[in-house]
Amino acid sequence: MSTTNMQDAIVIGGGFYGAAIAVYLARQRGMKQVTLIERESSLLSRASYNNQARVHNGYHYPRSFTTAYRSRINLPKFVQDWPEAVKQDFTKLYAIARRNSKVTANQFERFYREIGAKIELASPALRSLFEPRLIEEVFLVEEYAFDSTQLARWALSELQESGVRIRLNTQAIAIANSPNQSLNITLAPEGKDREQISARYVFNCTYSGLNQFGGDFPGTRTALKQEITEMALMRMPPALSDLGITVMDGPFFSVMPFPARGLHTVSHVRYTPHLHWADDPNTNPYQKLDGYQRDTRVDRMIRDIGRYLPSVLGSEYIDSLFEVKTILSKNEGDDGRPILFEKHETLPGCYSILGGKIDNIYDVLEKLETENLSGAQITSSEQAQ
Ligand SMILES: Cc1cc2nc3c(=O)[nH]c(=O)nc-3n(C[C@H](O)[C@H](O)[C@H](O)COP(=O)(O)OP(=O)(O)OC[C@H]3O[C@@H](n4cnc5c(N)ncnc54)[C@H](O)[C@@H]3O)c2cc1C
Repeated sequence: MSTTNMQDAIVIGGGFYGAAIAVYLARQRGMKQVTLIERESSLLSRASYNNQARVHNGYHYPRSFTTAYRSRINLPKFVQDWPEAVKQDFTKLYAIARRNSKVTANQFERFYREIGAKIELASPALRSLFEPRLIEEVFLVEEYAFDSTQLARWALSELQESGVRIRLNTQAIAIANSPNQSLNITLAPEGKDREQISARYVFNCTYSGLNQFGGDFPGTRTALKQEITEMALMRMPPALSDLGITVMDGPFFSVMPFPARGLHTVSHVRYTPHLHWADDPNTNPYQKLDGYQRDTRVDRMIRDIGRYLPSVLGSEYIDSLFEVKTILSKNEGDDGRPILFEKHETLPGCYSILGGKIDNIYDVLEKLETENLSGAQITSSEQAQ
């Protein structure tokens, strides 16, 4: 096994989080030697691509004040920082189901007025898209979609400009303590011999793969739930093509623009989750998805959604996005999406980080800002900045 020179930081996982954190370490913390490790052949190709592309503004979380509130704070920052990736030119509707909804239209409207989110009754023309016997009320709100291919483009150019070394097709398999206040990371590059690389800090940003490490990695203290999910990629009929629609909050489905493909994603609370399990180190979520028969449930999704939104029956199925969704077990009930940010005491210098949604990046960077990342090869003038 070969060994390469000492790095200031190794970031494992080239999704949006790993990429943004690597850029942060190089640019804001002045680290000279930062390497980003990614098992796939390109950046942002897993959960950061295979998701519903919603830039949350809180409306999704009427039962989790903190998540709704944080989304409200983060959305304007996200729009400012990634303007080229944000699609705003569509009409966004939230509709409240009459039956089996965990919120009423009144509660929904009051909650969002209280947190200062834009909310108004939809026009009669927009309301006429819905079946009135099943839908209590339809609201016009402000919510956007992101184009993950634009985020990937941003990531690649920022990483290159800030001098971060990118290693694709390389899986990190173990993280271990080493005597000289550093960490040893074992890498398995595709088709090559294993190698070892050392760093003062390791940032484990592997989302579904957070607990898939040998060596001294202790696992996260926070329990995680893994879920194989399917979102259908559809071409909407003209009546729906400029809309994003979410029906709350029991019978829960979404039809959202997916800017990366110029299509819409369709998700349904009953049919999108195919399979779930409590995360454990012996079950590799990526392997589990690779071995999973991807039989689409699009027919059932569309049949049910068509009862609420008849024009969806005129949509055309193109493809499905299957991905493992990882959430904190404690948030199964309230749909909250806080971040996971753990410093591993028995593996000093190693952090595990998971953002439940894309805009949580600000919560993560805020946390990192308070960390004393000493011992990296930072020049004194940069330290003073
Ligand atoms: C179905 C679904 C719908 C969603 N909808 C939304 C939404 O509408 N809006 C929103 O904001 N968020 C949404 N999310 C959540 C969002 O996708 C995630 O919060 C975000 O993508 C997490 O980014 P990440 O970089 O942590 O994960 P990823 O993009 O998955 O990055 C992790 C990377 O680590 C790599 N990796 C894993 N293990 C290793 C290893 N051992 N060695 C090297 N590389 C490794 C993986 O290949 C991957 O590229 C959704 C997620 C899913 C699954």
